[in-house]
Amino acid sequence: MAKIIDGKAVSAAVKEQVKDEIARERLDIGLAVVIVGDDPASRVYVNNKKKACEFCGIKSYEYALPEDTTEAELLELIDTLNGDAKVNGILVQLPLPKQLDEKTIIEHISPMKDVDAFHESNVGRIMIGNYAFLPCTPAGCMELIRSTGVEVSGKECVVIGRSNIVGKPMAMLLLHENGTVTVCHSKTKNLAEVCSRADILIAAVGRANFVTADMVKEGAVVIDVGINRLENGKLCGDVKFDEVSEKAGYITPVPGGVGPMTIAMLMKNTVMAKRIQSGI
Ligand code: NDP
Repeated sequence: MAKIIDGKAVSAAVKEQVKDEIARERLDIGLAVVIVGDDPASRVYVNNKKKACEFCGIKSYEYALPEDTTEAELLELIDTLNGDAKVNGILVQLPLPKQLDEKTIIEHISPMKDVDAFHESNVGRIMIGNYAFLPCTPAGCMELIRSTGVEVSGKECVVIGRSNIVGKPMAMLLLHENGTVTVCHSKTKNLAEVCSRADILIAAVGRANFVTADMVKEGAVVIDVGINRLENGKLCGDVKFDEVSEKAGYITPVPGGVGPMTIAMLMKNTVMAKRIQSGI
């Protein structure tokens, strides 16, 4: 039976560290969170980010804009935030309403304040291993792997999913830690066979119960990034937890695994942004 990786506990420890660091050094840090429209899931995420800021001692500035906000209006707000010394990090909650082009908006954020690490220049820096910010979800997965004590170096790592925000950066982080990395996607042949070679398996597909026990190596570390809502309203991951937990060595639950880590890593990135901007 797999050991459960407790994302709530690991994320609480990261937030405690961030809180201590801020208090010890008396850092004055601000994070601007921009939300456009009233998507209920986005509202929950934004509220959780505000709560985490409060806990850590980071000032949060919320900008809640109406659903029909124009691109020019949002870009103008970002210009203001880019130039505001109180604001060290800027986060625009995605997804955005359809009249707003996500790429244009993200590229407008100053790379030094891009605490989501979605800006092209930050993405490029991750590729070459010279980065200041790590994208929060993959960075959170790395913390969870670290918490197991399993070394990535030399291990077979398989990432299912190649999105720009999860799969690709995840693969890069594992590679930087000397994993032997395979990235799978919807065109991958023999997916089950490829996955079953993995010592470390990351599922970032967005399909409920997609990863079954036959796809998992005995004793593997299984990190489930997926967040899927079932018809009965319950949340579930990409991994069929009941059967895979019989075979894996370590596994993250959903909820309570990767989810809480994303916000904890955002707090870390915001402190890093402050350090970069003030040269400390
Ligand atoms: P995307 O939809 O952008 O990417 C999904 C990936 O899965 C694609 O690369 C796709 O391949 C691949 N895929 C789809 N079907 C298959 C298949 N049958 N076999 C193999 N690969 C397949 O999703 P995201 O990366 O944005 O998110 C993935 C999941 O993680 C979602 O459930 C999302 O909600 C969750 N998530 C969780 C976060 C957290 O904080 N815990 C944060 C971000 C995301 P292809 O490229 O070929 O289409």
